Amino acid sequence: MSSDGKKTRAAARLESNGDRLRRTVASDALSVEFVSAFAGDRDMTEAERARVDTQLEARGGVFYSDLLYAVSHHYFAPEVAEILWGKVLLHKHLMSETLGRNVRITVATLDYLSNVTAEIASPTLISETYAAEIANLSMRDGMTGLYNHSTCCELLELEFRRHRRYGAGMSLVLMDVDDFKLVNDGYGHQEGDRVLIELARILTTQVRDSDICCRLGGEEFVAILPFTGSPAEAREIAERIRKKAMTIVCGEKAITVSGGVAVCDQGTRSPQALVERADRALYRAKGDGKNRIVVAAVRE
Ligand code: GH3
Ligand code: MG
Ligand code: MG
Repeated sequence: MSSDGKKTRAAARLESNGDRLRRTVASDALSVEFVSAFAGDRDMTEAERARVDTQLEARGGVFYSDLLYAVSHHYFAPEVAEILWGKVLLHKHLMSETLGRNVRITVATLDYLSNVTAEIASPTLISETYAAEIANLSMRDGMTGLYNHSTCCELLELEFRRHRRYGAGMSLVLMDVDDFKLVNDGYGHQEGDRVLIELARILTTQVRDSDICCRLGGEEFVAILPFTGSPAEAREIAERIRKKAMTIVCGEKAITVSGGVAVCDQGTRSPQALVERADRALYRAKGDGKNRIVVAAVRE
Protein backbone atom coordinates (compact mmCIF):
# COMPACT_ATOMS: atom_id res chain seq x y z
CA MET A 1 0.00 0.00 0.00
CA SER A 2 1.12 3.53 -0.66
CA SER A 3 1.34 5.99 2.19
CA ASP A 4 -2.07 7.53 1.48
CA GLY A 5 -3.68 4.15 1.90
CA LYS A 6 -4.45 3.55 -1.77
CA LYS A 7 -3.31 0.30 -3.30
CA THR A 8 -0.63 0.56 -5.93
CA ARG A 9 -1.41 -1.08 -9.26
CA ALA A 10 1.20 -3.76 -8.58
CA ALA A 11 -0.26 -4.44 -5.14
CA ALA A 12 -3.75 -4.69 -6.57
CA ARG A 13 -2.48 -7.13 -9.18
CA LEU A 14 -0.74 -9.30 -6.62
CA GLU A 15 -3.82 -9.35 -4.47
CA SER A 16 -5.99 -10.21 -7.43
CA ASN A 17 -3.74 -13.15 -8.25
CA GLY A 18 -4.34 -14.51 -4.76
CA ASP A 19 -8.07 -13.93 -5.13
CA ARG A 20 -8.03 -15.66 -8.47
CA LEU A 21 -6.45 -18.78 -7.01
CA ARG A 22 -8.98 -18.85 -4.19
CA ARG A 23 -11.80 -18.38 -6.66
CA THR A 24 -10.64 -21.13 -8.96
CA VAL A 25 -10.98 -23.55 -6.10
CA ALA A 26 -14.05 -22.10 -4.45
CA SER A 27 -16.36 -20.74 -7.08
CA ASP A 28 -19.00 -22.33 -9.16
CA ALA A 29 -17.18 -21.22 -12.35
CA LEU A 30 -19.37 -19.91 -15.16
CA SER A 31 -19.01 -21.45 -18.59
CA VAL A 32 -18.27 -19.33 -21.66
CA GLU A 33 -21.52 -20.66 -23.15
CA PHE A 34 -23.51 -19.34 -20.23
CA VAL A 35 -21.83 -15.92 -20.33
CA SER A 36 -22.32 -15.78 -24.08
CA ALA A 37 -26.07 -16.34 -23.67
CA PHE A 38 -26.22 -13.80 -20.82
CA ALA A 39 -24.57 -11.22 -23.08
CA GLY A 40 -27.21 -11.78 -25.77
CA ASP A 41 -25.27 -13.89 -28.28
CA ARG A 42 -28.26 -16.23 -28.25
CA ASP A 43 -31.57 -16.64 -26.38
CA MET A 44 -31.23 -17.95 -22.85
CA THR A 45 -32.88 -21.18 -21.81
CA GLU A 46 -35.24 -21.24 -18.80
CA ALA A 47 -32.56 -23.02 -16.78
CA GLU A 48 -29.99 -20.35 -17.65
CA ARG A 49 -32.39 -17.58 -16.66
CA ALA A 50 -32.99 -19.25 -13.34
CA ARG A 51 -29.24 -19.59 -12.87
CA VAL A 52 -28.74 -15.85 -13.40
CA ASP A 53 -31.24 -15.14 -10.59
CA THR A 54 -29.59 -17.64 -8.27
CA GLN A 55 -26.10 -16.38 -9.03
CA LEU A 56 -27.03 -12.73 -8.60
CA GLU A 57 -28.71 -13.46 -5.30
CA ALA A 58 -25.92 -15.67 -3.98
CA ARG A 59 -22.87 -13.78 -5.26
CA GLY A 60 -24.01 -10.17 -5.73
CA GLY A 61 -21.34 -8.07 -7.43
CA VAL A 62 -18.98 -11.05 -7.57
CA PHE A 63 -21.22 -12.36 -10.33
CA TYR A 64 -19.74 -9.72 -12.67
CA SER A 65 -16.21 -10.74 -11.71
CA ASP A 66 -17.20 -14.30 -12.60
CA LEU A 67 -18.65 -13.22 -15.96
CA LEU A 68 -15.48 -11.38 -16.96
CA TYR A 69 -13.25 -14.11 -15.64
CA ALA A 70 -15.00 -16.72 -17.77
CA VAL A 71 -14.44 -14.79 -20.99
CA SER A 72 -11.05 -13.18 -20.32
CA HIS A 73 -9.31 -15.33 -17.69
CA HIS A 74 -8.63 -12.04 -16.01
CA TYR A 75 -9.83 -11.26 -12.51
CA PHE A 76 -11.46 -7.94 -11.70
CA ALA A 77 -12.68 -6.92 -8.26
CA PRO A 78 -16.51 -6.86 -8.04
CA GLU A 79 -16.84 -3.07 -7.77
CA VAL A 80 -14.74 -2.66 -10.94
CA ALA A 81 -16.25 -5.66 -12.71
CA GLU A 82 -19.85 -4.44 -12.71
CA ILE A 83 -18.91 -1.15 -14.40
CA LEU A 84 -16.50 -2.89 -16.76
CA TRP A 85 -19.15 -5.40 -17.79
CA GLY A 86 -21.40 -2.51 -18.88
CA LYS A 87 -18.58 -1.02 -20.93
CA VAL A 88 -17.79 -4.33 -22.57
CA LEU A 89 -21.45 -4.77 -23.54
CA LEU A 90 -21.47 -1.29 -25.08
CA HIS A 91 -18.27 -2.13 -26.95
CA LYS A 92 -19.83 -5.36 -28.22
CA HIS A 93 -22.82 -3.37 -29.42
CA LEU A 94 -20.61 -0.81 -31.20
CA MET A 95 -18.51 -3.50 -32.86
CA SER A 96 -21.63 -5.38 -33.96
CA GLU A 97 -23.19 -2.26 -35.46
CA THR A 98 -19.97 -1.38 -37.24
CA LEU A 99 -19.45 -4.82 -38.69
CA GLY A 100 -23.12 -5.50 -39.37
CA ARG A 101 -23.07 -8.83 -37.55
CA ASN A 102 -23.16 -10.09 -34.01
CA VAL A 103 -19.72 -9.89 -32.42
CA ARG A 104 -19.52 -12.48 -29.68
CA ILE A 105 -18.88 -11.47 -26.11
CA THR A 106 -15.55 -13.29 -26.03
CA VAL A 107 -14.22 -11.23 -28.94
CA ALA A 108 -15.69 -7.96 -27.67
CA THR A 109 -14.24 -8.51 -24.19
CA LEU A 110 -10.81 -9.28 -25.49
CA ASP A 111 -10.84 -6.36 -27.92
CA TYR A 112 -11.98 -4.00 -25.17
CA LEU A 113 -9.42 -5.20 -22.63
CA SER A 114 -6.49 -5.38 -25.00
CA ASN A 115 -7.14 -2.40 -27.27
CA VAL A 116 -9.19 0.03 -25.22
CA THR A 117 -8.02 -0.43 -21.66
CA ALA A 118 -4.76 -2.30 -22.33
CA GLU A 119 -5.55 -4.64 -19.42
CA ILE A 120 -4.31 -7.66 -21.34
CA ALA A 121 -0.81 -7.37 -22.73
CA SER A 122 -0.98 -10.39 -24.99
CA PRO A 123 -4.13 -12.24 -26.05
CA THR A 124 -2.63 -15.67 -25.55
CA LEU A 125 -5.44 -16.96 -23.39
CA ILE A 126 -8.02 -17.16 -26.13
CA SER A 127 -8.09 -19.47 -29.07
CA GLU A 128 -6.33 -18.60 -32.30
CA THR A 129 -9.69 -18.47 -34.06
CA TYR A 130 -10.79 -15.56 -31.95
CA ALA A 131 -7.41 -13.87 -32.25
CA ALA A 132 -7.56 -14.17 -36.03
CA GLU A 133 -11.08 -12.79 -36.04
CA ILE A 134 -9.91 -9.76 -34.09
CA ALA A 135 -6.93 -9.26 -36.37
CA ASN A 136 -9.29 -9.31 -39.34
CA LEU A 137 -11.58 -6.70 -37.97
CA SER A 138 -9.55 -3.99 -39.69
CA MET A 139 -11.07 -1.37 -37.53
CA ARG A 140 -7.86 0.20 -36.38
CA ASP A 141 -4.98 2.20 -37.71
CA GLY A 142 -1.93 -0.04 -37.58
CA MET A 143 0.52 2.57 -36.36
CA THR A 144 -1.38 4.31 -33.57
CA GLY A 145 -3.98 1.68 -32.66
CA LEU A 146 -6.74 4.28 -32.93
CA TYR A 147 -9.86 3.62 -35.00
CA ASN A 148 -9.15 4.15 -38.67
CA HIS A 149 -10.88 6.46 -41.11
CA SER A 150 -13.65 4.12 -42.23
CA THR A 151 -14.46 2.98 -38.69
CA CYS A 152 -14.49 6.62 -37.65
CA CYS A 153 -17.16 7.39 -40.27
CA GLU A 154 -19.30 4.46 -39.15
CA LEU A 155 -19.00 5.26 -35.45
CA LEU A 156 -19.78 8.88 -36.17
CA GLU A 157 -23.02 7.85 -37.92
CA LEU A 158 -23.87 5.55 -35.06
CA GLU A 159 -23.25 8.18 -32.37
CA PHE A 160 -25.12 10.79 -34.36
CA ARG A 161 -28.16 8.50 -34.61
CA ARG A 162 -27.97 7.82 -30.89
CA HIS A 163 -27.76 11.55 -30.20
CA ARG A 164 -30.78 12.28 -32.43
CA ARG A 165 -32.82 9.52 -30.86
CA TYR A 166 -32.03 10.17 -27.21
CA GLY A 167 -30.98 13.83 -27.34
CA ALA A 168 -27.82 12.84 -25.53
CA GLY A 169 -25.63 15.65 -26.92
CA MET A 170 -22.52 15.10 -28.98
CA SER A 171 -19.40 16.98 -30.04
CA LEU A 172 -16.51 16.51 -32.38
CA VAL A 173 -12.88 17.58 -32.00
CA LEU A 174 -10.77 17.67 -35.15
CA MET A 175 -7.03 17.95 -34.53
CA ASP A 176 -4.12 18.56 -36.87
CA VAL A 177 -0.43 18.71 -35.95
CA ASP A 178 1.10 22.11 -36.70
CA ASP A 179 3.98 22.23 -39.18
CA PHE A 180 4.31 18.48 -39.15
CA LYS A 181 6.22 18.57 -42.42
CA LEU A 182 9.02 20.35 -40.57
CA VAL A 183 9.23 17.44 -38.12
CA ASN A 184 9.65 14.97 -40.94
CA ASP A 185 12.06 17.22 -42.82
CA GLY A 186 14.11 18.12 -39.77
CA TYR A 187 14.18 14.87 -37.82
CA GLY A 188 13.12 12.16 -40.24
CA HIS A 189 9.97 10.11 -40.77
CA GLN A 190 10.69 7.79 -37.87
CA GLU A 191 10.64 10.71 -35.48
CA GLY A 192 7.46 11.89 -37.20
CA ASP A 193 5.91 8.50 -36.54
CA ARG A 194 6.94 8.65 -32.90
CA VAL A 195 5.15 12.00 -32.59
CA LEU A 196 1.96 10.54 -34.09
CA ILE A 197 2.05 7.51 -31.79
CA GLU A 198 2.66 9.69 -28.75
CA LEU A 199 -0.11 12.06 -29.76
CA ALA A 200 -2.53 9.17 -30.17
CA ARG A 201 -1.68 8.03 -26.67
CA ILE A 202 -2.29 11.52 -25.31
CA LEU A 203 -5.60 11.71 -27.14
CA THR A 204 -6.87 8.51 -25.57
CA THR A 205 -5.70 9.41 -22.09
CA GLN A 206 -7.22 12.90 -22.13
CA VAL A 207 -10.75 11.82 -23.05
CA ARG A 208 -13.29 9.60 -21.29
CA ASP A 209 -13.56 5.86 -21.84
CA SER A 210 -16.81 6.39 -23.71
CA ASP A 211 -15.22 8.85 -26.17
CA ILE A 212 -14.00 7.58 -29.52
CA CYS A 213 -10.51 8.43 -30.80
CA CYS A 214 -9.61 7.99 -34.45
CA ARG A 215 -6.78 8.75 -36.83
CA LEU A 216 -8.31 10.20 -39.96
CA GLY A 217 -5.04 9.90 -41.86
CA GLY A 218 -1.65 11.64 -41.92
CA GLU A 219 -1.37 13.88 -38.88
CA GLU A 220 -5.11 14.43 -38.47
CA PHE A 221 -7.08 13.02 -35.57
CA VAL A 222 -10.68 13.04 -34.43
CA ALA A 223 -12.25 12.62 -31.03
CA ILE A 224 -15.97 11.88 -31.05
CA LEU A 225 -17.45 12.97 -27.73
CA PRO A 226 -20.85 11.41 -27.09
CA PHE A 227 -22.93 12.95 -24.26
CA THR A 228 -21.10 16.27 -24.67
CA GLY A 229 -23.58 18.95 -25.70
CA SER A 230 -21.95 22.01 -24.22
CA PRO A 231 -19.41 24.05 -26.21
CA ALA A 232 -17.58 24.95 -23.00
CA GLU A 233 -17.18 21.31 -22.03
CA ALA A 234 -16.02 20.32 -25.52
CA ARG A 235 -13.56 23.20 -25.58
CA GLU A 236 -12.16 22.16 -22.22
CA ILE A 237 -11.44 18.66 -23.48
CA ALA A 238 -9.85 19.97 -26.69
CA GLU A 239 -7.72 22.44 -24.72
CA ARG A 240 -6.57 19.65 -22.45
CA ILE A 241 -5.36 17.68 -25.47
CA ARG A 242 -3.72 20.75 -27.02
CA LYS A 243 -1.78 21.57 -23.86
CA LYS A 244 -0.72 17.98 -23.27
CA ALA A 245 0.49 17.70 -26.89
CA MET A 246 3.18 20.28 -26.08
CA THR A 247 4.86 17.74 -23.80
CA ILE A 248 5.99 15.97 -26.98
CA VAL A 249 9.33 17.44 -27.90
CA CYS A 250 11.35 17.12 -31.10
CA GLY A 251 14.89 18.38 -30.73
CA GLU A 252 14.39 21.54 -28.69
CA LYS A 253 10.92 22.28 -29.94
CA ALA A 254 7.54 21.37 -28.46
CA ILE A 255 4.97 19.91 -30.82
CA THR A 256 1.79 21.93 -31.15
CA VAL A 257 -1.61 21.07 -32.53
CA SER A 258 -4.60 23.07 -33.69
CA GLY A 259 -8.15 21.96 -33.13
CA GLY A 260 -11.61 22.65 -34.49
CA VAL A 261 -14.59 21.83 -32.30
CA ALA A 262 -18.21 21.49 -33.34
CA VAL A 263 -21.14 20.74 -31.05
CA CYS A 264 -24.38 19.24 -32.34
CA ASP A 265 -27.22 21.73 -32.22
CA GLN A 266 -30.81 21.92 -33.47
CA GLY A 267 -29.64 22.74 -36.97
CA THR A 268 -27.12 19.90 -37.35
CA ARG A 269 -28.79 17.63 -39.88
CA SER A 270 -26.05 15.05 -40.45
CA PRO A 271 -22.70 13.91 -39.11
CA GLN A 272 -21.13 15.27 -42.30
CA ALA A 273 -22.46 18.73 -41.43
CA LEU A 274 -20.85 18.40 -38.00
CA VAL A 275 -17.52 17.43 -39.54
CA GLU A 276 -17.69 20.35 -41.95
CA ARG A 277 -18.24 22.81 -39.11
CA ALA A 278 -15.34 21.32 -37.13
CA ASP A 279 -13.19 21.48 -40.26
CA ARG A 280 -13.97 25.16 -40.83
CA ALA A 281 -13.16 25.87 -37.17
CA LEU A 282 -9.84 24.04 -37.58
CA TYR A 283 -9.08 26.09 -40.68
CA ARG A 284 -9.66 29.25 -38.64
CA ALA A 285 -7.40 27.96 -35.86
CA LYS A 286 -4.62 27.51 -38.42
CA GLY A 287 -5.27 30.94 -39.95
CA ASP A 288 -5.30 32.63 -36.56
CA GLY A 289 -1.76 31.45 -35.81
CA LYS A 290 -1.98 27.70 -34.92
CA ASN A 291 -1.56 26.09 -31.47
CA ARG A 292 -5.14 26.99 -30.60
CA ILE A 293 -8.68 25.66 -30.41
CA VAL A 294 -11.57 27.27 -32.25
CA VAL A 295 -15.13 26.27 -31.39
CA ALA A 296 -17.65 26.61 -34.20
CA ALA A 297 -20.52 28.91 -33.30
CA VAL A 298 -23.69 27.15 -32.15
CA ARG A 299 -26.70 28.06 -34.25
CA GLU A 300 -30.10 27.90 -32.53
P1 GH3 B 1 -0.04 22.73 -41.03
O1 GH3 B 1 0.54 23.36 -39.81
O2 GH3 B 1 -0.69 23.73 -41.91
O3 GH3 B 1 -0.96 21.62 -40.67
O4 GH3 B 1 1.18 22.15 -41.84
P2 GH3 B 1 1.72 20.64 -41.89
O5 GH3 B 1 3.14 20.70 -42.32
O6 GH3 B 1 1.44 19.96 -40.60
O7 GH3 B 1 0.72 19.98 -42.90
P3 GH3 B 1 0.84 19.24 -44.26
O8 GH3 B 1 -0.55 18.67 -44.46
O9 GH3 B 1 1.36 20.14 -45.31
O10 GH3 B 1 1.87 18.07 -44.04
C1 GH3 B 1 1.55 16.91 -43.41
C2 GH3 B 1 2.70 15.96 -43.56
O11 GH3 B 1 2.45 14.75 -42.84
C3 GH3 B 1 2.94 15.53 -44.96
C4 GH3 B 1 3.15 14.04 -44.93
O12 GH3 B 1 4.32 13.65 -45.56
C5 GH3 B 1 3.23 13.73 -43.46
N1 GH3 B 1 2.68 12.43 -43.09
C6 GH3 B 1 1.48 11.91 -43.40
N2 GH3 B 1 1.32 10.67 -42.85
C7 GH3 B 1 2.47 10.42 -42.15
C8 GH3 B 1 2.92 9.30 -41.37
O13 GH3 B 1 2.24 8.29 -41.17
N3 GH3 B 1 4.16 9.39 -40.79
C9 GH3 B 1 4.94 10.49 -40.97
N4 GH3 B 1 6.13 10.53 -40.38
N5 GH3 B 1 4.54 11.55 -41.72
C10 GH3 B 1 3.33 11.51 -42.30
MG1 MG C 1 -3.00 18.03 -42.18
MG1 MG D 1 -0.61 19.68 -40.07
